[in-house]
Amino acid sequence: MREFQRCTRCVMDTTDSKITFDENGVCDHCRNFDKNIAPYWKPNENRYDELEKLSAKIREAGKNSEYDCILGLSGGADSSYLAYIAKEIMHLRILAFVVDTGWNLNVAVENIEKIVKGLDLDMYTEVINWKEMADLQLSFFKAGISSQDFPQDHAIFAALYNYAVKHKIKYVLTGSNSATEFIRPPVEWLYMNDLKMAKDIHRKFGKRELKTFPMCGMLTYKIYYRYFKGMRRAYPLDYVVYNKTEAEDLLHERYGWTRYENKHYENVFTRFFEGYYLPHKFGFDTRKNVASNQILAGTLSREDALKRLEQPPYDPDQMLQDKEYVAKKLGITTEEFDAIIEGPNHVPADYKNSMWMIKLGVAVSKMLGMENRNLRI
Ligand SMILES: [Zn+2]
Repeated sequence: MREFQRCTRCVMDTTDSKITFDENGVCDHCRNFDKNIAPYWKPNENRYDELEKLSAKIREAGKNSEYDCILGLSGGADSSYLAYIAKEIMHLRILAFVVDTGWNLNVAVENIEKIVKGLDLDMYTEVINWKEMADLQLSFFKAGISSQDFPQDHAIFAALYNYAVKHKIKYVLTGSNSATEFIRPPVEWLYMNDLKMAKDIHRKFGKRELKTFPMCGMLTYKIYYRYFKGMRRAYPLDYVVYNKTEAEDLLHERYGWTRYENKHYENVFTRFFEGYYLPHKFGFDTRKNVASNQILAGTLSREDALKRLEQPPYDPDQMLQDKEYVAKKLGITTEEFDAIIEGPNHVPADYKNSMWMIKLGVAVSKMLGMENRNLRI
């Protein structure tokens, strides 16, 4: 085991096993930020001219369709603010796409309703077959790997992309942005969208055929949809000042939108997964990369971040309640769930996977200058 060390500038540490430090104890995420991101990063500049050019391109691509673009609305700050920008600043014809994975908290559902109504958007909701979702999620827990976020994330992503292609909507707007996300959680914490691994895990541990569960493999999405169906992604939040607190205030004042206590905590499953499973079983705490991003962006002091990390990720009583809730919803007892959680830890390499393709994809993206973040896999 490597001796514990924490970056002297951000709060990433050796729970990211591939982290390296220079002689001042500064980590490679921070060095990558200085070298590849900071010189091009314009967080205090609204680039409306460029945004207008992007809007014109999106409108042109959508002129023969009912909608110019589609965006996944989760009720969280990023996607809600994105919807606001797309409608009020870019004046696009938007389809708000909502995926019901069975885990959304009321606050998320209410936020979605407020944004859709406030911005007068058309909305489509795809409800994932719950039995299939539960079977895949339980399979992932039994597989003992860290990335329990896969079944939900994949369902949300695949449902949206498949729908867009089917309905000839060319542009997907995403709430990803470089203002809050220069440090991604390390791949060993949250592995990537690897359908091959998911299928292998489901084949080993699943009990029910996945008949309607939305799927979209990497080649389909990166090659077929992109080059044969003309699908594009756009990142409008990169063109505007995106101060999360101010954005949340605006959404609240205009539409009655409600803030969550933590990023991603709009969803019981994600709260349990990031707040308990990941730190408890693997020692991975996604608050570290979130806080480190804020430190590099200058919106949080390292001292306050460390104070935040001293607190448990979430209230222990709430955690127990969530654990019972998750177990019950997945159709097992809390004791059975505990036994599965305490089982051996595994990594994606223990299953069939597409790691080589992901590595190649990242290498090519870096070569073409499309990926400046420090993804080391
Ligand atoms: Zn650092």
